[in-house]
Amino acid sequence: MSNLQTLDKQYVANTYARFPVEIISGKGSVLVDTDGKEYIDMGSGIAVTSFGQGDAIWLQAVSEQLGKVQHTSNLYYTEPCAKLAQLLCEKTGMKKVFFGNSGAEANECAIKVARKYAQDKKGADYSTIITLENSFHGRTLTTLSATGQEHYHELFNPLTPGFVHTPANDFEALKALALQEKTAGIMMEIVQGEGGVIALDADFVKAVAAFCKEQDIVLVIDEVQTGNGRTGELYAYMHYGIEPDVVTTAKGLGGGLPIGAALLSEKVESVLGFGDHGSTFGGNPVCCAGAVSIIERLTEDFLNEVKTKSEKIFTALQGASGVKSVSGLGLMIGIETEKSAKDVVAACMEQGVLCLTAKTKVRLLPPLNIPDDLLDKAIETIKTACAI
Ligand SMILES: *Cc1c(COP(=O)(O)O)cnc(C)c1O
Repeated sequence: MSNLQTLDKQYVANTYARFPVEIISGKGSVLVDTDGKEYIDMGSGIAVTSFGQGDAIWLQAVSEQLGKVQHTSNLYYTEPCAKLAQLLCEKTGMKKVFFGNSGAEANECAIKVARKYAQDKKGADYSTIITLENSFHGRTLTTLSATGQEHYHELFNPLTPGFVHTPANDFEALKALALQEKTAGIMMEIVQGEGGVIALDADFVKAVAAFCKEQDIVLVIDEVQTGNGRTGELYAYMHYGIEPDVVTTAKGLGGGLPIGAALLSEKVESVLGFGDHGSTFGGNPVCCAGAVSIIERLTEDFLNEVKTKSEKIFTALQGASGVKSVSGLGLMIGIETEKSAKDVVAACMEQGVLCLTAKTKVRLLPPLNIPDDLLDKAIETIKTACAI
């Protein structure tokens, strides 16, 4: 084992199973390890580096801001924070934004908004949040409670009370549960990411949205992974023409810097007042400057290119040898393989392509602007690794 790996194993908390790869640099969709070996990046640091490594426009925006002021706290105004909030609202029709630093923190805000809205409007006992089985909403104790996967819960009881789970794509079951509980909010991912890259049925999503409107239940769409152009729309809910009350996002928003956001619709924009919520790092000017440079470039033309790249991957892999199915939306793709996903990922890595897994699937989340020649090369490598 190398010195770095020994050092890391000795001093970094033992929560990650790392691959024996030491990344020292990167440019665009290519990462380089300590031996000088190059890898095509089909994971983007789990959907984070939206425009790859060291993207020139992003780098300029971030460095310029870094040279001016790197942090102020939320006691003062800074331009990138206000500009990013304006940009997000203008592009989505939402009214206000709360900034935090991660997906979990964005979801915590959404849960607080849903509960406070319901308690103000319907009564103190309206606190239940419904989420879907097989969902993933984060690692803090409350977002873990929201996560509809038992194996994440077992070791950390007691969890935050007030969360119940129902099967995806079964509207009648969800409706029955929502009417039986004192329901404050319903939270769901449009494409379940960690759960295996599974898109919800359009009919289910629309039925849930209509039901939330009818019952005045706060609809939270968790776009931590699906957001910011990842699925070929700015936010994945836009595929279905629904109007969520809260949209949470993080991962790809900052292009590689930590930032999370809860976007609040007109219905809930004033639910949180002074002192109700906060975050020391939230709205950090450097992270926000980076995010502005990402969101500004997610134009319709750019998103069409994301869709074209997505079709290319689907077309190449559907029906390929050793591929059972291909799922997902845009550049968020799950591949069910005959071989174990772990073996396919290892074979790809050997050949210089970094892929991810989600449950039993190989998961692809390449930079949104991955050049076509690199994408073609990665697809060929993945096909070869899957083939039986
Ligand atoms: C990654 C993820 C989270 C958690 O985000 P963190 O930044 O790791 O806290 C929440 N929801 C979804 C859908 C995610 O994919």
